[in-house]
Parts: sequence; structure tokens; C-alpha cells
Amino acid sequence: MKQAKANVPMLEITDLVKEYPGGLRALRGVTLNVTEPQIVAVIGSSGAGKSTLIRCINRLVEPTSGSVKLGGQELTTLNRSDLRKARSHIGMIFQEYNLVERLTVMENVLSGRLGSVSLWRAFRRNYPPEDVANAFELLDRVGLTGRQDDRADALSGGQRQRVGIARALMQKPNLLLVDEPTASLDPKTSRQIMRLICELAHESGTPALVNIHDVALAQASADRVIALNDGNLIFDGAPGDLTPEVLNDIYGEEDWSATIRKDDDDAENAEPEAPAKQAKPPSRNGTVGK
Ligand code: ADP
Ligand code: MG
Repeated sequence: MKQAKANVPMLEITDLVKEYPGGLRALRGVTLNVTEPQIVAVIGSSGAGKSTLIRCINRLVEPTSGSVKLGGQELTTLNRSDLRKARSHIGMIFQEYNLVERLTVMENVLSGRLGSVSLWRAFRRNYPPEDVANAFELLDRVGLTGRQDDRADALSGGQRQRVGIARALMQKPNLLLVDEPTASLDPKTSRQIMRLICELAHESGTPALVNIHDVALAQASADRVIALNDGNLIFDGAPGDLTPEVLNDIYGEEDWSATIRKDDDDAENAEPEAPAKQAKPPSRNGTVGK
């Protein structure tokens, strides 16, 4: 896993185009390389193509043209069974958590192994003991110790997302795809959840692409920021290089002075805090393919 061979980018996206039926071009030739296990925030206003980009990687949305390579393997041409195998190593974390509500926390976490454990074993709920042990460890790590037998629908939003994070990490992913993980959460919980995702991705050496509408949160958590505007990649750089001019290109005229993270801000000590000024209201239409 993750032993990115020298010179083989972990994720290599070249000239990716997505044209939806009807002719709407959601991606207009996006090129992006991730060569180290870093957190890449994907920002851009609603409709810019963020969800489409993430979903073209694991082909929940089929790209129209272009190339996506993960650890050197071309994903866009895989047949169904090879795609299933590749997907079993791509963890996904969703805005709306996508848990099975009437199953327990433990069952939801273990379902992260569904791509790897035989369906018969899964149906019998007969997961290998090492998977169960790993699930308990992950539940501890995401702050849900002792909650394994609770039904998912008994949890708060933040707790559900913690289950979603544990489920994604159960896959021992080579890549994490994260689509607006905090858009349904309050500002304080959003910060905690983003921090948890970043910590766990760093600890496990997993590169992550995180769609996020909150510029301040993106800057505070990511190693790198890319910005999409109408299907084009218009910025790719360090969080600190996001200037008001760049943000104007992305979101239009606005007073960014309150939003841009100052170097002397200490994100750890920032809580409790007023809700971060948001670039735009949370995108609610980014539910491609749901
Ligand atoms: P974002 O996640 O940045 O809000 P999306 O990737 O969801 O953007 O959408 C990009 C563009 O593609 C938008 O104009 C959206 O309306 C359009 N779009 C998204 N999903 C579909 C679909 N299934 N069919 C047609 N158009 C779509
Ligand atoms: Mg979206």
C-alpha cells in the first residue's frame, strides 16, 4: 500500500473531461498530480465541478475523456471486476454520511471491508477477527469507544461522520475521496471532523482529496489547495498563497479580509469561535449520482 514508488505519482489526473448528457461540461480538461500523501482541498463555488471531479476518480461518474491513474494503474479503462477491486482501496467520505441507519456502528464500520471480504462472509456477518479488532481500534481513534452496538440512527451528525471516517479507513485506502464532509455540521463540529480526517490521513500516509466550501477551514487544514471554476482548474498551490485576488477569481467580488487565515491564527486554539465567514452557503446541489 501507499509505498508510492519513486517517480510514480500516487494520483495522476490528466486532461479529465466530463460532459453530462445534454452537453453540460462539468470538467473541461483538469490535470492534477498528487505525488505525496497530502491533504488536497478542492474549493470552488457551487456547480464548479468539485463533486464531479471526485466522482470521476472512482467512476461513480464516468469520465468522458482523459486519464486517472492511481499508483500507476489506469482506472478509466478498468472492467467492472477490476474496477471493484480498485474501488476497494479508495475510501470515500460523504456529506450525508451514507450509513445504513438501522445497522449498528460496528456493522457500518465493518462494511468498509465489503469490497475485500467475500459476500458470503459479510452476509453471515462473519468478518475475520483481525477486521473486528481493527474496527474497534478505529472506533477508539475516532472517539466512539463503547458505541459499537448503537444503531447508526441513534447518533448525532458529528458521530455519524466519525463512523463514516472509520468505515473509509477500514478499507486501508490508497486514496481518500471526501465530498463536503462538514456541510451538514455546525462550525465547531466541522472543525473537529476536518481535523480528525486530516490527522488520520496523515497518520496512515493516505493522500486525500477533500471538497470543501469553507475557505478558512480549507486553509487551516489542507497541505495544498486547488480551485475549480466552471470545470477549469484555476489555482493549485499552498494554502497561504490564496490571495483575495485568487478568491475573487473563484467566487467573485467579496471582502476576503475576514476569511483569509492569518499566519498568526492558531487553529487549535480557535475554538470556541464564531462561525467562520463562509464563501458561499453550503452547496446543496452537489449530490451527483446519489
Ligand atoms: P460542485 O460539486 O462543485 O457543486 P458538481 O460537480 O456537482 O459541482 O456539478 C458541476 C456541474 O455539473 C453543475 O453545473 C451541475 O449542475 C452539473 N451536474 C452535476 N451532476 C449532474 C448530472 N448528473 N447530470 C447533469 N448535470 C450534472
Ligand atoms: Mg458538490
